Amino acid sequence: MISVEEALEKVLSYVKVLDREENPILQCLGQVLDEDVYSPIDVPPRDNSAMDGYAVKAEDTVGATPSSPVYLDVTGEVKAGAIAEEEVGALTALRIMTGAPLPKGADSVVQFEDTDEALRRERPLLQIGILHQVPKGQNVRRAGEDIARGQLVLPQGTVLRPSEIGVLASLGKETAWVIRRPVVAILATGDELVALGQPLPEGKIYNSNSFSIAAQVLRYGGIPQVLGIARDHARDIAGKIKEALSADMILTSAGVSMGDYDLVKDVLAKQGEVSFWTVRMKPGKPLAFGMIKGLPHLGLPGNPVSAMITFELFARPAILKMMGKKNLSKPTIEAIMESPIENTDGRRIFARAMVRREGDRYFARLTGPQGSGILTSMSRANGLVIVPEDVKEVREGESVKVLMLDWSEE
Ligand code: AMP
Ligand code: MG
Repeated sequence: MISVEEALEKVLSYVKVLDREENPILQCLGQVLDEDVYSPIDVPPRDNSAMDGYAVKAEDTVGATPSSPVYLDVTGEVKAGAIAEEEVGALTALRIMTGAPLPKGADSVVQFEDTDEALRRERPLLQIGILHQVPKGQNVRRAGEDIARGQLVLPQGTVLRPSEIGVLASLGKETAWVIRRPVVAILATGDELVALGQPLPEGKIYNSNSFSIAAQVLRYGGIPQVLGIARDHARDIAGKIKEALSADMILTSAGVSMGDYDLVKDVLAKQGEVSFWTVRMKPGKPLAFGMIKGLPHLGLPGNPVSAMITFELFARPAILKMMGKKNLSKPTIEAIMESPIENTDGRRIFARAMVRREGDRYFARLTGPQGSGILTSMSRANGLVIVPEDVKEVREGESVKVLMLDWSEE
């Protein structure tokens, strides 16, 4: 048996960062930027108003108070997107909307709330009372204050989140070069499996693994290629694996334990190079890794919970590495255990738990029976409590590390 770390290191040593592609920016969400993005423009492009109000010369407002306002002549109005024809001269003001370019001659904006506009009946306004003195530059957004022309805005290697997609858009950039997403082929194996939409004969079960795994692939940014079900015959498995050869990675489920009909490992041994079979962890002990004609292959266990957990621990980091990401691990937190856990056979346990926060502390409670076929206990969990190999039991009230699958609490 090998450790979780050794297994992960092995898997990662076989997967490479993929090549680049140019995508419309919205499609780049979650991808890693593969170019340095410099700004061709100032953002904002011109000085503009941060408020609805009056564009003025600050010096004209000196001494203004609610009881003795300064009165300025209103010579016009500027809307967002328009350039004012009028200049602001001594003792005059232009009515201005948020985002509108600051007119010539003005250096500040007095917001509506600091004028007597609300009290005035006449429209259009010919005069406005300023109730508060403003410093120069008040409520003015300077040209280039967010991004200056020529500035390196997003360096290569940046993970594109919604805010980065917005920054790219603010530069007018329609497409970006990013590391492409891996295509991950998914093959379920087993004579007992029935495809969705079919009636369920005696002795059979629906193929759930293909769907939980494909959903995980999608969630972490890959493109799932669902190959369906291969029967427990070497020829069927080999044939289906051929369909996957243009993918970037292949994930199979089941067929890697010691049962007579567990054939994935035999097919692998014939077609490729097999690396290891058992990892010192629970659930999910039987796991195969190999290369089939240059394609990394991860043979996940058949049990639905084991398949999902081994995906999290080994397939997810591989997908992230292929996408060019550097941070490959999920966050772990410290929590206080509210249910006991026994570790009888010296493996690292990943126990399904619901973590909740009270004040500044986290509490973790198991989500019920931990059989590796009980998928609903995975569905009720938001984290995996980690019990180290050398810890025989965790008692209530003890502190544990929890690998967080989700941050939602309940
Ligand atoms: P195996 O690895 O073939 O011994 O399978 C272990 C367990 O996982 C058995 O109970 C299988 O019926 C179950 N299993 C295997 N593949 C799937 C699948 N695609 N969907 C749901 N359960 C599965
Ligand atoms: Mg089987």
